[in-house]
Amino acid sequence: MTTVEPTVPEPTVPGPTTVEPVASEQATGVSPYQHYVYAYPHKTAYRPLPERPPLRELWAAEPKDALSLYLHIPFCEVRCGFCNLFTRIGAPDGLTGAYLDALERQATAVREALGETDRVRFATAAFGGGTPTFLTAGELERLCDIAEHRMGADLRGVPLSVEASPATATADRLAVLAERGATRLSLGVQSFVETEARAAVRPQRRAAVESALGRIRDARIPVLNIDLIYGIDGQTEQSWLHSLDAALAWRPEELYLYPLYVRPLTGLGRRATAGPDPAWDEQRLTLYRTGRDHLLAHGYTQRSMRMFRRADAPPQGADDHACQTDGMIGLGCGARSYTAGLHYSFDYAVGMHEIRGIIDDYVSTTDFAHAQVGHPMAHDESRRRHLLQSLLQAGGLSVDDYRARFGSTPAEDFGPELAAFADRGWLTDDPTLVRLTPEGLAHSDAVGPDLFSPAVRTAMAAYERK
Ligand code: SF4
Repeated sequence: MTTVEPTVPEPTVPGPTTVEPVASEQATGVSPYQHYVYAYPHKTAYRPLPERPPLRELWAAEPKDALSLYLHIPFCEVRCGFCNLFTRIGAPDGLTGAYLDALERQATAVREALGETDRVRFATAAFGGGTPTFLTAGELERLCDIAEHRMGADLRGVPLSVEASPATATADRLAVLAERGATRLSLGVQSFVETEARAAVRPQRRAAVESALGRIRDARIPVLNIDLIYGIDGQTEQSWLHSLDAALAWRPEELYLYPLYVRPLTGLGRRATAGPDPAWDEQRLTLYRTGRDHLLAHGYTQRSMRMFRRADAPPQGADDHACQTDGMIGLGCGARSYTAGLHYSFDYAVGMHEIRGIIDDYVSTTDFAHAQVGHPMAHDESRRRHLLQSLLQAGGLSVDDYRARFGSTPAEDFGPELAAFADRGWLTDDPTLVRLTPEGLAHSDAVGPDLFSPAVRTAMAAYERK
């Protein structure tokens, strides 16, 4: 389930090993759980682009020597109750093959649009979803071929991250991925406690999870990431620590700890009651702190609210790609692409019926040379994105980097917002960095949405969920 988080190279921070005083929701008036900002603007701010700009024009003036490549596979074996990602279950026979055919057509068109120049280079690659390992081993070979032969990505020479589920992390698939250069395998476990996995509508046997982890270690992919969720119905501090320890037994290089969200149109969303839930917020904050402190005490460093990395793990990020500035090519019907002036993708939905329709449309598409749906990135939006992508990392935002890019300081551009964060005790007072305190980091999902522009807020509010 992992979404691709900004991978800003940042110094790690040791962080606290004890629980600091709680700046509670009652004290700040802000729920800590408003919106997970893994990309800005959110896709619900995208709109159809009536002029359908040609990709060739969009990419003409872009730097192309350190691009990021993302291939999206929108299929899963089960739909987890919390999931609002663009994915479908129950792919009928032939659909994954037809999807790869379309992906290949898209890759050919996009590569052509980038131009026939040897200045096109991918510095990082990822297969996400959905569950990329829903594909068979043979289909994964084909996926790698598309990335290498159609797009020109050197998969064995750059970091390549792949998401998997326990049931689909089979030895044959892992062997293909390892051989083709995967450097990171991210496994969506969510909980090692079977009743909690069921409560999150992600039923799975503990033994099946442990076997999958064994197969991943046997495949010798250098970085194992395990995703866990806190805030599940019935989860206690003790059961959370039990899951964390079960994960730590595998010495994963990375761990992502996700707060549970219940969003409209998801399996859990259909059962949820509307309205604020301060008790649940407090439960999630408590479990967050417990999890964070436990990992810090076990030799992990915190990279963002969700991400923890083993201090002695091999480096994973591309050393020449900066997510704030470099472009991204997304292939597949749920993938986004980023140029400096436009973020674009295809239509977006959460409801299963709509998702099926969008995938069917994608599979029959022949013209991939134009952008269809997107959000223009005005100068102001680029500043916000830069601030968001840096501030939500534990290392924070370098004021010098910001000034070098925009000719102003974050305080000049975002004075009132930053002052409000400082008033809540969420910013350190280092003059060279805009950086969240541990308590600010705990409130990342409230900090992020506060920095959305009025235009993006309006577009998100007007989005009709489907
Ligand atoms: S495995 Fe679950 S969380 Fe991940 S994309 Fe599929 S349905 Fe969503």
